[in-house]
Amino acid sequence: MLDAASLQAALAQRKAQQLWRDPPVLDSAQGVEVRLGESVYLNFCSNDYLGLAADPRLGEAMVQGVRRWGSGSGASHQVCGHQKPHQQLEEQLASWTGREAALTFSSGYLANLAAVQTFIKRGDQVFQDRLNHASLLDAGLSTGASSRRFQHLDYQHLDRLMSQPTKNQRMLISDGVFSMDGDQADLQQLVSLADKHQAWLLIDDAHGLGVLGAAAAGLVGQQFNSQQVPLLTGTLGKALGSAGAFIAADQLVIDYLRQFARQYIYTTAQPAAQACASLEALKLLHEEPERRQQLFAKIAYFRQQALTLGLPLMASSTPIQPLLLKTNERAVRWSQALKNQGLLVMAIRPPTVPKGSARLRITLTASHERHHLDQLLDALRTLHLHEPEEAIDG
Ligand SMILES: *Cc1c(COP(=O)(O)O)cnc(C)c1O
Repeated sequence: MLDAASLQAALAQRKAQQLWRDPPVLDSAQGVEVRLGESVYLNFCSNDYLGLAADPRLGEAMVQGVRRWGSGSGASHQVCGHQKPHQQLEEQLASWTGREAALTFSSGYLANLAAVQTFIKRGDQVFQDRLNHASLLDAGLSTGASSRRFQHLDYQHLDRLMSQPTKNQRMLISDGVFSMDGDQADLQQLVSLADKHQAWLLIDDAHGLGVLGAAAAGLVGQQFNSQQVPLLTGTLGKALGSAGAFIAADQLVIDYLRQFARQYIYTTAQPAAQACASLEALKLLHEEPERRQQLFAKIAYFRQQALTLGLPLMASSTPIQPLLLKTNERAVRWSQALKNQGLLVMAIRPPTVPKGSARLRITLTASHERHHLDQLLDALRTLHLHEPEEAIDG
């Protein structure tokens, strides 16, 4: 029975721990500048790394898609909701990532559930980097398999955990780029360990796709084949500026998923118009490589300036540039102070990150101008001056 008192107590505790969250209501499109209520803010918290989410060409592709294919798909893929743009998108995602085939999903969360739940059963073993995305951790736990988490990027620890032999299936799972840290898995080591210990390797390249690697195909795409990384998942809602997600793999694996993945079968296909926007994004990615160059120039500039100021940067060379402030109180206070100056930067707190590692998650995009970064850096310098390193380490 619903116990209102315990729900209220849990909510009160969230507030007391400075963990309360409310979604900001944007009154504008995604972009460098966003409107919240009466005010306009410089935006440093979207995953729209290439500035495509409000690109008129994606919008136009979507509008054309709606005119041609309607606003809803009307059914799940296997019933009658799978339209030509879905098919085309799956084919293009496969060739972009150097795989035989791909299967689309409504979200990355669902794609990750499917990639794990479809292949792993009770009695099997799952190994995860402890900072993997929540969808991967949830996926592993939901299977009833034995779930082991290794220390972040600690592949010796992983090697030890995996060294007990088993007759059952094993899956080794890692983010490519870690979403709250911005650092990267060592794919070569993961591939070797998966091979050594006979595990399937699943890499979630949500933040690498569109940003890193040859043809912007991510950390895995053109670098590692499907023998090495049999399961690759990615989302279309980040650098690609669209929505939806996919699994790319060998044909056999995709055939199996198409028959058995519940997250694919028992849900309405996303609107074909969304797939039209994704197709346009893939085209632009290919035609406008300068977006990535602009992005990496911004990352280099921000890091160099932040380092000079002594800000608590983390080891990231990606658009995710968190500042480790440790306590929830400090993260919230800095975020609020920045907001008062028209700068939108989210405080990320437990349980999204481990206790004592609250941070400001700054994300940079190709659309930021240098003066936008300078404005943020100025504000951060002032905050930092009033709170020297000792306080942050204490
Ligand atoms: C955002 C994210 C997802 C979820 O993708 P959605 O399409 O937003 O559901 C999965 N994995 C990682 C690493 C992510 O950052």
